[in-house]
Amino acid sequence: MQLVYYPDPILLKTARPLERIDGELREKTSEMFELMYRESGVGLAAPQVGWGVRLFIFNCLGEEDRSGERVFINPRIIDRGEDYLVEEEGCLSVPEVKGKVSRPDEILAEFQELSGEMRREELCDIESRIFQHEFDHLNGVLFLRHLNTTEKLVAKKMLRELEKEYSERGEAAGSGPPGRSGDS
Ligand SMILES: [Zn+2]
Repeated sequence: MQLVYYPDPILLKTARPLERIDGELREKTSEMFELMYRESGVGLAAPQVGWGVRLFIFNCLGEEDRSGERVFINPRIIDRGEDYLVEEEGCLSVPEVKGKVSRPDEILAEFQELSGEMRREELCDIESRIFQHEFDHLNGVLFLRHLNTTEKLVAKKMLRELEKEYSERGEAAGSGPPGRSGDS
């Protein structure tokens, strides 16, 4: 399992719903956690590993505390709070690029867990932010879309670099640039 980097087209596609939660899915999910920790990320969506399904994971507590591991399958955002917070975000699939993104501080989410059980839960702060960042990935949206004009200009140089690396890698599954701590 490897990370997929911008501008890989899978990152811009809408992921398909998951119909079955089975052993294979559980295995892939645990591989995703290992990859996320290896890359020092806090969240990871299935399309970021080239898997076009509606699933993402996060652990806000970090690798040292596995009790923070969460898996969200076929997630939906039912409601968004009225207060917006601006925080800096990064993305494992867009290394070296950071930018401030405004998102609702609270959301009401519905999703399936790894057990298959359907849940409804209010998320706030960091959990809400990561959920929304990862949820965007399932709809083919990168955090770059939320940046302001100045930040987009700053990001442009690095994005060109990534585009160049991507075309040089071609079809070969190769080693991409390293991720940055705290990215998702
Ligand atoms: Zn991301």
